[in-house]
Amino acid sequence: MAENLEEILKRIEGDADLIQGLLAELCAHIKEPLTLMEVCGTHTHAISKTGIRRALAGKVRLLSGPGCPVCVTSDADIDRFIELSRMPDVVVTTFGDMLHVPGSESSLANERDQGRDIRIVYSPLDALAMAEREPDKEFCFLGVGFETTAPAILATVAEARRRGINNFSIYAAFKLIPPALRMIAAHPDLAIEGLILPGHVSAVIGSEPYRFLADEFKRPCVITGFEGADILQAILMIADQIKEGEPCLEIQYKRVVTKEGNKAALKIMEGMCDVKDSMWRGLGTIPESELKLKEAWKDFDAEHKLSLPPMEYKETADAKGCRCGEVLLGKIIPPDCPLFAEACTTSNPIGPCMVSSEGACSAYYKYER
Ligand code: SF4
Repeated sequence: MAENLEEILKRIEGDADLIQGLLAELCAHIKEPLTLMEVCGTHTHAISKTGIRRALAGKVRLLSGPGCPVCVTSDADIDRFIELSRMPDVVVTTFGDMLHVPGSESSLANERDQGRDIRIVYSPLDALAMAEREPDKEFCFLGVGFETTAPAILATVAEARRRGINNFSIYAAFKLIPPALRMIAAHPDLAIEGLILPGHVSAVIGSEPYRFLADEFKRPCVITGFEGADILQAILMIADQIKEGEPCLEIQYKRVVTKEGNKAALKIMEGMCDVKDSMWRGLGTIPESELKLKEAWKDFDAEHKLSLPPMEYKETADAKGCRCGEVLLGKIIPPDCPLFAEACTTSNPIGPCMVSSEGACSAYYKYER
């Protein structure tokens, strides 16, 4: 898809003069090409859709990180979701993106085709309402997401207890972003010079949990918003930090993100969950990177309530030559996968990065071919 800068500029949302100025400033600042990682699926899609990646080609290489919760959910977890769906009188409820993600031998979509009761909902409250209407069944909601999603799902569990709805549970698989970034910053094969940090997660956790990236790992990092001008400004701030040789943590998205984060949301997560080690697709086991329900909430914890056997951590190869694991680590970009746009498309996805609307492969497929 050949585009000139004029065409790209038209697609970057926001004030045209501001954007043109930011691009000119970036081009003047950057002498050596930079390799940065954006750690949010929404940023990846914005960067692809607006054409920012193409506008900065040769100056900035933007790699996508593990910023899509569906994509980083392990095979082992998906196998357990499938196990739940096969139990009698258990209804699995989930956001739609999870349906087609492959486990080690099946997917929820396959199971649904075989008659399992798997329902798509738009909110955990929808699942709670179903549980209230159908008291003879157990409704299990799949709690997949980052710090952004967890508080609303946990609040639904608290609401279920308050209203005495006892046929509702969740499978808590809430991943935490800072431990994944520690793993990426420490990875010997990844030469990421700076990080574009997520706006939504940061609105909940605040800026401080990322401070180690600058202090310990000397990586410039900027929390940013989702408009074209936000992203360009964040890249410029990182380029400035690199130029000055002073890596630090900055907030570009000050209209939403504070140092302390959302205290009410943090209180819910701390009050209801313990932090555990977790298996991430492509990244392996990351210490203290997942929230699980505390003992006091075990009556709403599907793993306990429905007696799932202990989790078997296993790293299976991605299905059918899919290279999502390497995409999630920033080792390759989606077009480097031989299946990209050939065997693997958004209408016939093979791996989670093409399945999920937040996945890097789906972003490249939709906007960068
Ligand atoms: S293009 Fe498809 S097969 Fe290749 S890494 Fe992406 S999702 Fe996996």
